[in-house]
Amino acid sequence: MTEEKRYDIAIIGGGVLGASLYHWITSLREESVILIEKESDVAVHTSSRNTGVIHRPFYLDPSRKRVQARSAGISYSLWKELAHASGSPWLECGTIEVAKSEEDMKALERYSEWSLQNGLSSDDFSILTGEQVSGIEPEVKCDGAFYSKTDVSTEFGALTKALFMRSGNSKSLITSNAEVLAIEENSDGCLIKCIINGRTTGISAGLVMNAAGGSALKIAHGMGYAANYSVLFFRGEYWRVVPEYGGLISRNIYSVPRHTKYPFLDPHFISRANGLKEIGPNAVLVGGPEVYEGISPADGNILSSLMERPIRPKLNLVFNREFVSLVSSEWKSSFYKSEMARRVREFIPGIETGFLSSRGFSGVRGSLIDKSGFVPEAIVEFGKRSVHILNYNSPGATGAPAYAVHIVRMMMEKGYLGDLNFGKSKISGSWDFDKISDLMVSGASAA
Ligand SMILES: Cc1cc2nc3c(=O)[nH]c(=O)nc-3n(C[C@H](O)[C@H](O)[C@H](O)COP(=O)(O)OP(=O)(O)OC[C@H]3O[C@@H](n4cnc5c(N)ncnc54)[C@H](O)[C@@H]3O)c2cc1C
Repeated sequence: MTEEKRYDIAIIGGGVLGASLYHWITSLREESVILIEKESDVAVHTSSRNTGVIHRPFYLDPSRKRVQARSAGISYSLWKELAHASGSPWLECGTIEVAKSEEDMKALERYSEWSLQNGLSSDDFSILTGEQVSGIEPEVKCDGAFYSKTDVSTEFGALTKALFMRSGNSKSLITSNAEVLAIEENSDGCLIKCIINGRTTGISAGLVMNAAGGSALKIAHGMGYAANYSVLFFRGEYWRVVPEYGGLISRNIYSVPRHTKYPFLDPHFISRANGLKEIGPNAVLVGGPEVYEGISPADGNILSSLMERPIRPKLNLVFNREFVSLVSSEWKSSFYKSEMARRVREFIPGIETGFLSSRGFSGVRGSLIDKSGFVPEAIVEFGKRSVHILNYNSPGATGAPAYAVHIVRMMMEKGYLGDLNFGKSKISGSWDFDKISDLMVSGASAA
């Protein structure tokens, strides 16, 4: 194995989270930083394979999901400025989340309270009756709805690339085609064993930040961390809607989620930033973080992913009837587009199976489980000279720039990074580390 030069910090993963960490670390500090990405480009995986909605945090309970809610609320204006500066898509089409039962109507009331607690203004949203919804979206039928007027459709892949373009210092480097295989850690730093362009190489770094998305837990396990967690992978699939019908609806239409302790949402109607209309995603159990098509329930990858240690948290789910029944209904919606259409017909009755013209791309979410079930928020594990960000799921793309500030601040406080600020973000306006850091603590809105 050849050995490359030593870096102060190595970031693993060139998705939206790795990009945000790279941005802040290289803006603030003169240290040498290497970002290691296994693909030939950045933002190839989940950061480009998602619904593309910049979510306002109306649906996030601030008492349970405080960091997520604040990250999403604060990052909105950051993304808006970057989108305008870089010419990335920004379609403020709004989201209508529909209620189909009495229980759902109660959820809408909670959303109003949470919106205000999460820093939204009362102008950003309203509660609509079923008739009011039909008035603005005649194809949608429901008992009532929460209308989040400032939700945006974008392309997170484009925003991630724009962020990389505006990041870096004189000693930083982004290395693509570089896959991390294993990491040895001691009190001075880490030796990262990689394959770079087919050659086995060792990269030495004083500190490793693991932002490897669906593979982050595997890397953490390999270093002896996060041993109580295991992961299951769920593929979200989308179907394109023919323009003749899709063009009749202009907003994103979601329904109030019914199974909040599991990673299953009912598919939505999506108005993509490029004008395409789609329905999705479902949540199909698959065997790995990049299984974007194929598989059957008997697939060997699923079995081996279920058998990966620790097995205990997964066994609890395997014997949970509700979970097993949800998994099989998601598989059904993967095999039959009629099933996807049926689920959306519950609130868009005019959508026929024949209106779904072709499959869109799919994306995979890795959901962490521990002995209590699915873990609701991202987890940060601190090692000797490493930091691991696990379970970084939706609305992760929305919240990444502010969430990365939160991580960097925690690292400073715990002594992993000195607290000297050398510089500022290359993006002006709201991209101010200290201000964002204060907002993450105070919870006031950045908008
Ligand atoms: C179906 C779906 C819909 C979603 N919709 C939304 C939405 O509308 N709005 C929203 O805010 N969020 C959404 N999300 C969530 C959001 O997309 C993710 O939270 C976010 O993209 C995660 O970013 P990441 O950088 O952690 O992961 P990734 O984008 O997956 O990046 C991880 C990177 O690490 C690299 N990597 C992995 N292993 C290694 C290794 N060994 N060596 C080197 N590199 C490695 C990968 O190649 C990859 O580039 C959605 C997610 C899914 C699955």
